[in-house]
Amino acid sequence: MNKILLLGFLAVITGCNTAYKPEDKIKDDVFFLASDSLEGRQTGTAGEKMAADYIAGRFSDLGLEAKGTDGYFQTFSFKPKTDPHQEITYTVVGKDSTITGTNVIGYIDNNAPYTVVIGAHYDHLGYGAEGSLYRGEEKEIHNGADDNASGVAVMLNLASKLKNIDQGNNYLFMAFSGEEMGLLGSNYFTKNATIDLGKVNYMLNMDMVGRLKQDSTLAVYGVGTSPILKQVVNASNSQFKILEKESGTGPSDHTSFYNSNIPVLHFFTGQHEDYHKPTDDAEKLNYEGMEEISNYILEIITELDDDGKLAFRKTKDESDDVPRFKVVLGVVPDYLFDGKGMRIDGISEDKPAQKAGLQKGDIVVKLGDSAVVDLMSYMRALSVFEKGDKTKVVVDRNGKEVETEIEF
Ligand SMILES: [Zn+2]
Repeated sequence: MNKILLLGFLAVITGCNTAYKPEDKIKDDVFFLASDSLEGRQTGTAGEKMAADYIAGRFSDLGLEAKGTDGYFQTFSFKPKTDPHQEITYTVVGKDSTITGTNVIGYIDNNAPYTVVIGAHYDHLGYGAEGSLYRGEEKEIHNGADDNASGVAVMLNLASKLKNIDQGNNYLFMAFSGEEMGLLGSNYFTKNATIDLGKVNYMLNMDMVGRLKQDSTLAVYGVGTSPILKQVVNASNSQFKILEKESGTGPSDHTSFYNSNIPVLHFFTGQHEDYHKPTDDAEKLNYEGMEEISNYILEIITELDDDGKLAFRKTKDESDDVPRFKVVLGVVPDYLFDGKGMRIDGISEDKPAQKAGLQKGDIVVKLGDSAVVDLMSYMRALSVFEKGDKTKVVVDRNGKEVETEIEF
């Protein structure tokens, strides 16, 4: 608590400094959210609550209206999954064995007919919850600087900018919790919205925007969810190498809004080796890049401001063409499998997997040097190989580990 008060005090001082640059504030936000004192911001923990208090304090300092159910907060309680194939169920606060997460919600009311939702999740993996790719012995804090203190910092930066411009929409700023446990906060919000969801114009999601690389590649997903988006995303861009995808469905909170028939965009600077590991730290982020991304998103918002309510369009599921690989394994992954690893749902003829003797139902748990815990880590592991490379693959076959050599 004292740390928060102290930080608020420092913010006032730096705010008076004439040499102040917006990215400095972005940096302050990331360094606080990703500090060890928040212990990885796992949903339902004291660290998550500290982060929520901090974000609410920032909303308040920026003069945003509270739009939660209790001031800036909207809590949701749920039973943690015991059976991975079960749907999560929300439950009554305070009931036995429930976890309570907190969304933080602020609002700029411009008396406009429609509202733009600008969101980013702030929860992370604590000391290495499910989803962690860390394989060390000792427990370590997963600070989640890129995932997703970066998105929250850019959201706060956008709030500070939009507060001072009279725009054609209202703006709802949301810091979601429960994302790492399955998009729970955003899902809960769309079912228990604190504004009229029918008046939401579109939703922008920033998840992992802190690692802009030398080549300035910025992924913008969801460009197919409204006919106008593709053109605006490109017209507003002057410096990024935009990697666009049509689909409104992806592994982050915009999916919850897309599923509610709302046009969405997700901004993302790409995977890296610190993803979901204790080494995702604040000093590794590209803060100038984050400021550029914030300006770019502001440009998109401004560009869309006189377009009224955007038309929603359903997109085809592109889950089978996610990253670009130089090699293929020749398998069909089971996209619905949520145990540890990548379960093979089908094997293509005459491809490396078949030649290596892999079978339908095998669960890939290791590829080369990389542990495979889910589809994302599988894709990351696969993306490093070149044609002709040989490596080892370990699968779980009916509970027994089988290792085999594979050639791409
Ligand atoms: Zn994550």
